[in-house]
Amino acid sequence: MADPDVDLEARLAEQDSFEPPADFVEQANVTDPDIYDEFETNWPDCWTQAADLLDWDTEYTEILDDSNPPFYEWFADGELNASANCLDRHLDERGDEAAIEWVGEPTDEANRTYTYQELHDEVNAFAAALRAQGVEEDDIVTLYMPMIPELPIAMLACARIGAPHSVVFAGFSADALATRMNSADSEHLVTCDGYYRRGDPLNHFEKATEGLADVDHDTDTIVVNRLPDDDGFDHDLSGHDTYADLVAAHDGEMVDPVSRSAEDMLFLMYTSGTTGQPKGVKHTTGGYLSWASWTSHAVLDIKPEDTYFCAADIGWITGHSYIVYGPLALGTTTMMYEGTPDYPDRHRLWEIIEEYEANQLYTAPTAIRSFMKWGTEYPDANDLSSLRLLGTVGEPINPRAWKWYYKHIGDESCPIVDTWWQTETGGMMLTTLPAIGEMKPGSAGPPLPGVSADIVDVRGSPVGAGEAGYLVVNKPWPGMLRTLYNNDDRFINEYWREYSQVDSNDSADWVYFPEDGAKLDEDGYFTVLGRVDDVLNVSGHRLGTMEIESAIVGVEGVAEAAVVGGDHEIKGEAVYAYVITEDGYEEDEELRERVIEGVEDAIGPIARPEKVVFTPELPKTRSGKIMRRLLENIANDDELGDTSTLRNPEIVDDIQTAAGGDD
Ligand code: ATP
Ligand code: MG
Repeated sequence: MADPDVDLEARLAEQDSFEPPADFVEQANVTDPDIYDEFETNWPDCWTQAADLLDWDTEYTEILDDSNPPFYEWFADGELNASANCLDRHLDERGDEAAIEWVGEPTDEANRTYTYQELHDEVNAFAAALRAQGVEEDDIVTLYMPMIPELPIAMLACARIGAPHSVVFAGFSADALATRMNSADSEHLVTCDGYYRRGDPLNHFEKATEGLADVDHDTDTIVVNRLPDDDGFDHDLSGHDTYADLVAAHDGEMVDPVSRSAEDMLFLMYTSGTTGQPKGVKHTTGGYLSWASWTSHAVLDIKPEDTYFCAADIGWITGHSYIVYGPLALGTTTMMYEGTPDYPDRHRLWEIIEEYEANQLYTAPTAIRSFMKWGTEYPDANDLSSLRLLGTVGEPINPRAWKWYYKHIGDESCPIVDTWWQTETGGMMLTTLPAIGEMKPGSAGPPLPGVSADIVDVRGSPVGAGEAGYLVVNKPWPGMLRTLYNNDDRFINEYWREYSQVDSNDSADWVYFPEDGAKLDEDGYFTVLGRVDDVLNVSGHRLGTMEIESAIVGVEGVAEAAVVGGDHEIKGEAVYAYVITEDGYEEDEELRERVIEGVEDAIGPIARPEKVVFTPELPKTRSGKIMRRLLENIANDDELGDTSTLRNPEIVDDIQTAAGGDD
């Protein structure tokens, strides 16, 4: 007899496009397919639709100033304040509604709810405190904090007084903190004593202190007490103020939000910069906030009455745009979770979604592949029926993981938005609109309305459908970075020189290059293949590592895979595959054969892996991206270089052993 579940799996496996679910479409924020034509015809005026989501102190009169490319300005003569847009304007209607729902990692600790009124009041008190500490408009304040409510509070307090923030991911080292504070000439730091990771308190203050020792100018520091007094750490806070004391001292004070010019800096965000000096990406008040708000509205379908859950860290751009600024500007309830999805057990994330009845879940493919590896029993045991939309960001998502997410988390009733964007773009660029057009697993989709992207060859000529090339963006957009901090030359060299006529003053001659490879299909959908430096050259054929990885993770029993190039006498480079098996599968010859077959079937014999190494984990950066360079060094027996940005440095030995033992 037919097993309905097996039928369903088989049907899903064959299906390569999905219509937006009808119930979703009925209630969606954006439903009219004409929006693509409308934005193209009315470009750049179409972007008033984004700016109109905000309250302006002074209305702008000019939308785009493109007289000095690539230094574009958006809504430049308008004035506004980001914290007023995220807080004050919601107080009348939503003052008693939750702005932030915070869930700490320890299950026996009380969760915290901040209503819009409470958040507003604490932001004001802390803004007053920052001023009293001597923070002035345009001073850059560094925030080195984990996922605790004081982080978004500090961000909004900075925004309120016109002091740009520079958030340094808490998992980064003391060194990374010092480099960023030096680069930004930042004299003010807000940090904390510690936080929890998998049940253990971490000593964060020690790391911060170590970093401060390498800062080349005077600084002052405010410390948030996240841990209980008996945390076992012997912190010497003398000479530092604590957050709690400051907020108590300024309780009840109101700080008028400073009217900022649209082009004034809202924040700096350093990208991880796996090579060389980190890049200080500059985002502005008007353009960035419009972009974060518009994409939250159009792509994440956020409504004020929603409870919205982005499982990223605020230390990344995803958390800036889609935990803090976008959702709060729209007046919704945004969730924050301090811990990992599998602490104390693999039910945790799903329990949080059930408890808070979250309506959206936005997370990364690497997390989805972990959920897949753990199995369906965890999501199945929890009620996820509140979910209306699912999203992914950070890496390409392979079709098998997409379908798993669609079926087991979304119950086939939630659209999935696979959103391609970067720190530099400020917000989403390529994705389907969730109620318009079909979804194709593995492909992000078309550019957003009003975004102009293409795929070109090395000379900059567009390539045809089906061919791989370089992703480019042909027109400016409001959320774009304005420059790299204090380094206009590097800004031009990194992102524009490749495909622009750099001596031209005509905006049409300027093309933004995100350094990603991609492929286009007949319907204008983009499949992002990954960074251009992750392309292998096997016997003269250029192969995207992402494409081969996608083929491998499509093989039953494989949870995750990373592909790198190993030196090869004849081929130049050979494909080395590192493979993690799904729970319940053996690391055996049979699976190794199926991996090789899977690649040959999907791409061709040219891509046949020379070596398949089973490993329990892959080396990941703190943001969850595979560190392919390190695997390449292992494959080629090279020096390993800097492993300090790894989340799991202890895994390196294991992988070396596994790789060595496979000959
Ligand atoms: P750095 O530039 O500092 O070395 P990074 O590029 O990993 O680090 P992010 O800005 O967080 O830092 O990531 C952007 C990159 O992530 C994109 O350029 C792209 O390679 C990848 N990416 C993001 N979203 C997607 C997606 N939906 N599909 C495919 N790739 C994606
Ligand atoms: Mg990048």
